[in-house]
Amino acid sequence: MQLQFLGTGAGQPSKARNVSSLVLKLLEEINEVWMFDCGEGTQHQILETTIKPRKISRIFITHLHGDHIFGLPGFLSSRSFQANEEQTDIDIYGPSGIKNFVLSSLRVSGSRLPYRIHFHEFDEGSLGKILETDKFTVYADKLDHTIFCVGYRIMQKDLEGTLDADKLRAAGVPFGPLFGQVKNGQDIVLEDGTEIIAADYISPPRPGKTLAILGDTRKTAASVRLAVAADVLVHEATYGKGDEKIARSHGHSTNMQAAEVAREAGAKRLLLNHISARFLSKDISQMRRDAGSIFEPVHIVKDLEEVEI
Ligand SMILES: [Zn+2]
Repeated sequence: MQLQFLGTGAGQPSKARNVSSLVLKLLEEINEVWMFDCGEGTQHQILETTIKPRKISRIFITHLHGDHIFGLPGFLSSRSFQANEEQTDIDIYGPSGIKNFVLSSLRVSGSRLPYRIHFHEFDEGSLGKILETDKFTVYADKLDHTIFCVGYRIMQKDLEGTLDADKLRAAGVPFGPLFGQVKNGQDIVLEDGTEIIAADYISPPRPGKTLAILGDTRKTAASVRLAVAADVLVHEATYGKGDEKIARSHGHSTNMQAAEVAREAGAKRLLLNHISARFLSKDISQMRRDAGSIFEPVHIVKDLEEVEI
């Protein structure tokens, strides 16, 4: 799986960074792409990638500030223009109000979609597990921003071990129903009395990946909980070292606070986004070094950058 960052800026678009959006590409796992936030211009950013809009099956919204949702009406409308392709439904998860925003925008603009949107709204009283499929579980928890805002913890279920067919054949097991039994973990006895212990032919299960993708927030305990032992934590860094006071008053974090969260959570890797346009590239290098004094590995992502998880 990969994370691709479509917009890594804070508040408003700049030449270098568009407003918030990122995708989690799960093409090898489930042939789907999940989007997190959809700031204005997200569909233009998608044009610069290989992402097929109809593969985007779920959109998770962290909060209702414009720089995180104004791209939705445009994206959802364009997604339906691929008339020759199969139209697939989409699920949208987000704070109460997201349904009203999307449906009002579509209605007022006379937009009709040839696919269905399934809304899953939540508020402070209905957080926790918001999605469970056979391969993934997603949790949401409340962060500390100027309006209701959540972070997501995405947990891939452990991957089953794979059957070593060559080894099984070499042990004299004929291809057929016996193969299936061993694959299901059943021990078998061959006609000549040879015992086949299934566990010897199946690799042990591999742990699934865990990602924490947070919305805008001050430093808060919920961020640490969401990111516990995560393979990757995506955290905002709207402000730099020494800006703790102003960050707090605007409901945001500094790079240092993001690094503290990663360290306290025991995350394996930290990616910083939601970067203010006033930081130039030399400031960005300094921001990374400063954060690195608290937590490594840390990286400040750029628009369109793709990171293998
Ligand atoms: Zn915000």
